[in-house]
Amino acid sequence: MSLLKVCNVKKSYGGEDGVVEALTNINLEINEGEFLALMGPSGSGKSTLLSILGGLNTPTSGKLMIDGIDVYALPSERLADFRHEYVGFVFQQYQLIPYLTALENVMLPLAITSHPGKEQRDMAQRVLNKVGLGTKSLRLPNQLSGGEQNRVAVARAIVNRPVIIFADEPTGSLDSKTAKELLELFQALNQDGLTIIMVTHNQENLAWVTRAVYIRDGVLSEIPR
Ligand code: ADP
Ligand code: MG
Repeated sequence: MSLLKVCNVKKSYGGEDGVVEALTNINLEINEGEFLALMGPSGSGKSTLLSILGGLNTPTSGKLMIDGIDVYALPSERLADFRHEYVGFVFQQYQLIPYLTALENVMLPLAITSHPGKEQRDMAQRVLNKVGLGTKSLRLPNQLSGGEQNRVAVARAIVNRPVIIFADEPTGSLDSKTAKELLELFQALNQDGLTIIMVTHNQENLAWVTRAVYIRDGVLSEIPR
């Protein structure tokens, strides 16, 4: 069954030097359990589409349905709750808070939940164990390698048990060994039932995904496999 459905999505950005048509007419249906790669040249609208799919960027027109919910028809406070419940984001720059430990970074999304503090710590620690950082949870980001920081960011994205993970070029700044470890982690999470949508430049990453689409000039096509 389709988990996420995009209908006739269009996005233009207005600026001083005119309007940029980032997405002209996007239609896409993603099923629960897919691990989808979103490919395309630089400037083709990948990040724009990812942020729209994740409920972070209102389209100029068109509709996003996730789990039967018309996401952009929600009032803004409900939209925030929706994102909290459904989506986790992993960015290329991991965006960890430098003065918080790995554990505290992972606990951040739990701060607004009703879980008691002790339980929040336990949940964060369990997720860090899962990504292989159980013994390093009290380190600050600058006491971790790039790959380890990346895994902290993944832990933070999944600690809320979201339904979908969105990742924008998550391997973009990693060496090939670390990139492979991250993709293995994503694959394991996907096999546990998490739906993952990943923007990537790298053809080699296609070996890990269950489906790939290509965006060019604002239009999507399937990459046959
Ligand atoms: P990609 O991630 O594939 O490189 P983007 O989605 O970042 O592409 O950008 C698609 C197009 O939209 C580009 O022409 C970019 O300059 C433009 N764009 C992206 N974000 C903004 C913004 N906030 N304001 C104006 N133009 C933007
Ligand atoms: Mg981008």
